[in-house]
Amino acid sequence: MIYSFTQIANYLRCPRSYRYRYLDGWREKETRAALMFGRCFEKALEAYFCGDDCGATLFEEWGAYRQAGFAYKKGETWDRLLRQGIHLLECFARDNRIRVSRPKGNLQIKIVRELPNANQFISYIDAIGELDGVRCVMDWKTTSSRYPDEPTGLLSLDPQLICYSWITGISEVALVVFVRKHQPEIQYLKTSISDDQRLEFGRLLAATIGQIESAQFPFHSGIRFPQNGCLSCSHVGLCLQDQELIDANLIRTSGVDDLAWLDDLVD
Ligand code: SF4
Repeated sequence: MIYSFTQIANYLRCPRSYRYRYLDGWREKETRAALMFGRCFEKALEAYFCGDDCGATLFEEWGAYRQAGFAYKKGETWDRLLRQGIHLLECFARDNRIRVSRPKGNLQIKIVRELPNANQFISYIDAIGELDGVRCVMDWKTTSSRYPDEPTGLLSLDPQLICYSWITGISEVALVVFVRKHQPEIQYLKTSISDDQRLEFGRLLAATIGQIESAQFPFHSGIRFPQNGCLSCSHVGLCLQDQELIDANLIRTSGVDDLAWLDDLVD
């Protein structure tokens, strides 16, 4: 079995949701404009580091979805997202804080780690390069609101960054957050992951895979306002047996998904 961070995070959030997605084959329909725009923006970043015209790449990639029937949030349009993306690329070039040498080998890096019982863990790392002259693992995010940066040290608890540090063995990690707001902003959030955190992640991974392999998939419903995870769960229609919600949000693929780890490519 091949595992990925997205799969493990999904199980930890709600084992029942994991079962719906990875064993029963229920996938969310890809209609969110912001998600698709994020993928196009990552292609533009790749062009930037390769010395190509990143603005033209963004226009070309996002242009493929101009007529797509995506769900846009209030105030968002195809044109607006493009303008914000171009503005962010200009800011990124002006900031000039990141270096990625040999971009073909240091962007979208596939790393595989062998696990017990012939299992594997796969990660796709957005970039390994230098931020302000320090070598680190970097993850790009596009979002419509700033990431929280307080209290101090909060980022060192980010499970995805801990996972990336675990699989690469690199302690310095960073999130580069492209914030699509009225005045676009880029956050360069850096932290260090300790040896203990990497060891603990390895233990968490082993325990979680043990639970998955022993078929434990209980509901972890979030019933408390305002942190109710069910509200943002694409599988809520299945739990509520609401056919209208199922039809609106989900498609069904054929059962156990051997390529589920590919989810990490779109995360
Ligand atoms: S709706 Fe709630 S209980 Fe059901 S799968 Fe999603 S998170 Fe779990």
